[in-house]
Amino acid sequence: MKLCDLYGRQINYLRISLTDRCNFNCIYCRSNGVEFLKREDILTLEEIEFLASFFHEKFGIEKVRLTGGEPFMRRGIERVIKNLAEKNLKVKITTNGFFLSKFSKFLSEYEVGVNVSLDTLDPKKFKKISGLDGFSEVMEGIDKAINDCVKLKINSVILRGVNDDEILDLVDFAWARNVEIRFIEFMPFTEVWNAYFISEDEIKAKIQEKFKIEFLEFKGTASIYTSDNGCRIGFISTVTKPFCNLCSRLRLTADGRLVLCIFDKISYPIKEFLRPYVRENELFEFVLETVRKKPKGFVEFAGEKAKFEMIKLGG
Ligand code: SAM
Ligand code: SF4
Repeated sequence: MKLCDLYGRQINYLRISLTDRCNFNCIYCRSNGVEFLKREDILTLEEIEFLASFFHEKFGIEKVRLTGGEPFMRRGIERVIKNLAEKNLKVKITTNGFFLSKFSKFLSEYEVGVNVSLDTLDPKKFKKISGLDGFSEVMEGIDKAINDCVKLKINSVILRGVNDDEILDLVDFAWARNVEIRFIEFMPFTEVWNAYFISEDEIKAKIQEKFKIEFLEFKGTASIYTSDNGCRIGFISTVTKPFCNLCSRLRLTADGRLVLCIFDKISYPIKEFLRPYVRENELFEFVLETVRKKPKGFVEFAGEKAKFEMIKLGG
């Protein structure tokens, strides 16, 4: 059975937040005073694996992205990756890179696509953005992943007056390592959004000061360009160029709630269909019915600050 919403969008991509914990405290992600989930409310590894397989087998979900919080802070992540990959799901992960060197061999073995977040090449600025003195660990992780032939992409959130002077350096960094870089527009999740937001057009203009770039393709939610020196540069611009009509994703929070749109104000608990025992038929009907309520997207909520914390939604 295909999962479709009322706007005819087919859902084939599930983003799973493994944890709401993170060792970073990024200024664009984390609001002050976020309350952590209680341990007993968090889905067990078995429940996560069951749900991923359920969406795969019942609804033809092909791609799963593990995220968080910081997904490598979830103990047992290796067995989740192994079990999902063995079920022929395409497994991807988004990470802050701090623990990447430890896992990169394993990720390469299971052909996991990895998006590593990197917003600056300056260790001091790194601490200012992320709250942690972790630049060298992230660099080590990226180097190791490249050596281990991990399928890697870089995600950068550019913030006005913070790292907008590093756009070309970040492109050079990615080019030198033959890695695609994606500039993600800062979405309104924290109080500082107004002060720091910078648009795709401004980022692009900076890049065009040095490179000619040409549109290549849409890939998922990213528009991909190539530069005249052969770098793949993507833009994910939810704010100025929303792609909601192409959205094929569904989110599962660490405590087992479905979120239909990153800007939605409502979430739909599905853990209750798993505890104290699994009720597959009821879950099936609930998911079918719930997905029909997927909002149009950012266009519907524009101008409002998002309700959920990014750290709980998984980006
Ligand atoms: N901790 C991991 C990481 O940082 O990559 C995974 C979770 S994080 C929420 C996923 C992605 O969302 C990261 O690439 C991060 O840069 C991005 N992100 C977080 N807050 C954002 C915001 N307000 N606007 C745009 N992207 C954001
Ligand atoms: Fe943590 Fe990632 Fe959010 Fe930064 S963006 S606080 S690394 S979850």
